[in-house]
Amino acid sequence: MVEPNSRCALCNGPLDHVYQPMETWNVKGSLCSKCYSKKIFEHYPGTHERVNKSN
Ligand SMILES: [Zn+2]
Repeated sequence: MVEPNSRCALCNGPLDHVYQPMETWNVKGSLCSKCYSKKIFEHYPGTHERVNKSN
């Protein structure tokens, strides 16, 4: 059985893994792993980089 929503809401590609977008992303449908990490990066850029202005 093929689900009707088995395509990525962003790139319309097939979903290898189904990722649910955050509500704040305003994305309807599911995301593939590629677009999910892309969105994560867009909304949470540089989580490992901290602005450290000590001087
Ligand atoms: Zn995608």
